[in-house]
Amino acid sequence: MAKILCVLYPDPVTGYPPVYARDSIPSLGNYPDGQTLPTPSAIDFTPGHLLGCVSGELGLRTFLEAEGHELIVTSDKDGPDSVFERELPDADVVISQPFWPAYLTAERIAKAPKLKLALTAGIGSDHTDLDAAINAGITVAEVTYCNSISVAEHAVMQILALVRNFLPSHEWVASGGWNIADSVERAYDLEGMDVGVIAAGRIGQAVLRRLAPFGVRLHYFDTRRLPIDIENELGLTFHPDVESLVRSVDIVDIHAPLHPQTYHMFDADLINSMRRGSYIVNTARAEIVVRDEIVKALQSGQLAGYAGDVWYPQPPAVDHPWRTMPHEAMTPHVSGTTLSAQARYAAGTREILEDFFAGNDIRDEYLIVRGGELAGTGAKSYTAGGAASPGSA
Ligand code: NDP
Repeated sequence: MAKILCVLYPDPVTGYPPVYARDSIPSLGNYPDGQTLPTPSAIDFTPGHLLGCVSGELGLRTFLEAEGHELIVTSDKDGPDSVFERELPDADVVISQPFWPAYLTAERIAKAPKLKLALTAGIGSDHTDLDAAINAGITVAEVTYCNSISVAEHAVMQILALVRNFLPSHEWVASGGWNIADSVERAYDLEGMDVGVIAAGRIGQAVLRRLAPFGVRLHYFDTRRLPIDIENELGLTFHPDVESLVRSVDIVDIHAPLHPQTYHMFDADLINSMRRGSYIVNTARAEIVVRDEIVKALQSGQLAGYAGDVWYPQPPAVDHPWRTMPHEAMTPHVSGTTLSAQARYAAGTREILEDFFAGNDIRDEYLIVRGGELAGTGAKSYTAGGAASPGSA
C-alpha cells in the first residue's frame, strides 16, 4: 500500500461542483505529432468536469482506494506547518500541478525518504528540484502534450487581447461607458506585424500554425532548427539567437522551458534592444523575464503590453507588481487547465500511476527523471546540474 500526496488548487469560492456551461467536451484523436492521448485502463470521472481542484481529486480516489492505497489531497502547500510538509515524510508519491505548485525543494526531498515518484499533473516539472530528485533516485514524470494546445490557444488570445486593446475596451462598456476614442487609442491590427516565437516545440509550433492565417510575418528562435518543409509551409524566418529575434519583431511569444539558459533571459539589455512598443506574451515560466524590468519597460513605453499566465511565486503576493502594472493582460496560471485539458491530464496521471504500481515502464515521453538521470522528455528539455530548481511556475 502506498501513500499518495496530491496537491491541487482550491475549490471554486462559489462551491463544488460548479454548474457546467456545457454538457460535454469534444473527444480528440491523437495529438498533432501522432502521440496517443492518455491510455489508462479506465477512468472514474466525467470528461469536462472540474478535476484539478481539491474536490475534483483528479478523479483518482476510487481507483487508488480500490487498490488499497491512501490518497491525501490538499491545497495547503507552503510553509513548515502546511499539510503538505506534514504529510510528506512518509509519502511514496507526490502529485502536483504547475498551476498551484507544491515546490519540491532539495530540503523537502531530504525529508521524504520514501518518495519514489514526483508526478506533474500537467507539463513543466521545474517546481521539483530535478538535481535533488536525480540524487535521491526519484522518478519525475509529467503528462506530456496534455495541455500544449490549450496553452497555444491562450497565447494567441493574449496576443490579440494586447494588440487590440481588448481588456480596457471591455472595461469601458462594463462600467457603463461608450468611450470609443479611449478604447482605440492603443488598438492596432495584428495583420502585417512581425511575430517572434521563442522555442518552437509543441506549444510554440502550435502557436505558429494558428497565427499563420492572420497575415503576419512569422519568426522563431530555437536551439534546434525546424525541418525546412515546416519553415516553408508557414513562411518562417529562423533566427540563430534571441537577440536577433527580438530586434526583428513587434511581438515576442515565449515557449521555452525554464533552465539556466533561459533564466532571466529578458533582462534590461534585451528588453531595451526591442522595437519601442513591442509586446511580450509569456505563458512559459515567469523567471524567464526579470520581473521589475517588465514593469519599468511598460511604464516607460518601451513595451506596449505584457501578458501571460505564469508568475513567481504562485500564488503571487497580493501586492505583486504585475497585478497593477500598466498595459497588462495577465491571468492566473490557467492556460493549461481548461476543463478540456483536465480530462487529459487526469487520465494521463492515472496512466502513469497504473504503470508505476504495476512495475511497467512509464511512457518515455512522460519521463523527466528516472534511475538517477534525466530521461525521456526531460533529457531533451532540461539540463542536469543546476537544472530546474523550484522557483518559477
Ligand atoms: P517542448 O519540449 O515541446 O518544447 C520546448 C522547446 O524549447 C524545444 O523545441 C526546445 O528545443 C526549446 N528550447 C529549449 N531550450 C531553449 C533555449 N534556451 N532557447 C530556445 N529554445 C529552447 O515543450 P512545450 O512546448 O510542451 O512546453 C514549453 C514550456 O511551456 C514548458 O517547459 C513549460 O514550462 C511551459 N508550459 C506552460 C503551461 C501553462 O499552463 N502556462 C502548460 C504547459 C507548458 P530542443 O528540443 O532542441 O531542446
